[in-house]
Amino acid sequence: MGGKRESEAGAWKAELSQLPTLRDRGRAGRVGRMIFFRGFVFILCGVVFLRAQTATETAPPARPIAAIEHVLIVSIDGLRPDRALLADMPVLRGLVREGAYTFWAKTTDMAVTLPSHTSMLTGVVPEKHGVVWNSDLPIGKPMWPRVPTLFELAGNAGYSTALIAGKSKFSALNKPGTVTYAAIADQPKSGNAEVVANAVRIITAHRPTLVFVHFPDVDSAGHKFGWGSAEQLAMIEENDRQLGEVLAALSAAGIREKTAIFVTADHGGAGKNHGPLDPRSAHIPWVLNGPGIKRGFDLTGDALLSVRTEDTVATACFLLGLAPQPDSDGRVLGEAFAKVSR
Ligand SMILES: [Zn+2]
Repeated sequence: MGGKRESEAGAWKAELSQLPTLRDRGRAGRVGRMIFFRGFVFILCGVVFLRAQTATETAPPARPIAAIEHVLIVSIDGLRPDRALLADMPVLRGLVREGAYTFWAKTTDMAVTLPSHTSMLTGVVPEKHGVVWNSDLPIGKPMWPRVPTLFELAGNAGYSTALIAGKSKFSALNKPGTVTYAAIADQPKSGNAEVVANAVRIITAHRPTLVFVHFPDVDSAGHKFGWGSAEQLAMIEENDRQLGEVLAALSAAGIREKTAIFVTADHGGAGKNHGPLDPRSAHIPWVLNGPGIKRGFDLTGDALLSVRTEDTVATACFLLGLAPQPDSDGRVLGEAFAKVSR
């Protein structure tokens, strides 16, 4: 028994000798605490770094006119400038009176809907963006512009975007993952009423940073009745009221005073059609209105300044603090700005 107790005692001693002494335990404790502390600091740094990265990714870019927090681009399909001036358009006139404008801006050389709108929303000519067709593509092989759209550039900066269009071919600008809210006609043409309803609904519900609205009816009236027709003139006046409804939605959402509003078009027309090499198709109105924008300022006052549809995206990018397309064919129309804070 005694031998067993001794051997047990010996085993205990051996086990005890394996345990750290108080001094050892103190050292181990310090080492442990140090490891714990370093681990904590490491994790803390990681969290701070990740949070900083997230903040960098989602913080809005610095904008040259701080009061502009939203951008609305309205395209009235087929709105030839002289028809706009002949029509009774009090809403557009109000934007002109309080904004910068020209009725001598130029669209793409192609002067047809989808290539021209793609240039308006990418800032490069059709040869670069590659959207040279003007119809719905055959189902099964979607194709997108070869360069990012304004929606994609804005989305990459953390902005919310909306694409509301009255022709189904605009789906070519709705590359998956690049537009936050899209309402595109599910048939070749819908109508202005549907476009207004979608625009009001999306603006009211989401107040996106960037909203693009495409009205199809003036173009439809041109193809049906002619660009010089009374029917088209009536449609232009109706479109002006519908433009007013979109602006009213901005006001109701509390963002009208924070919005840069572009009103433009993709081409004009003559007879019942439009196309290249015809100055009546090539010219478009271009109006910019908003805080920090010159008021009643005719951009044709500078003889060397010609406004192109590609300038729309370059100017919108600038106002949102975004870098323009690397290979942009547009330029920032700084001449339209009353004051820039940088
Ligand atoms: Zn068109």
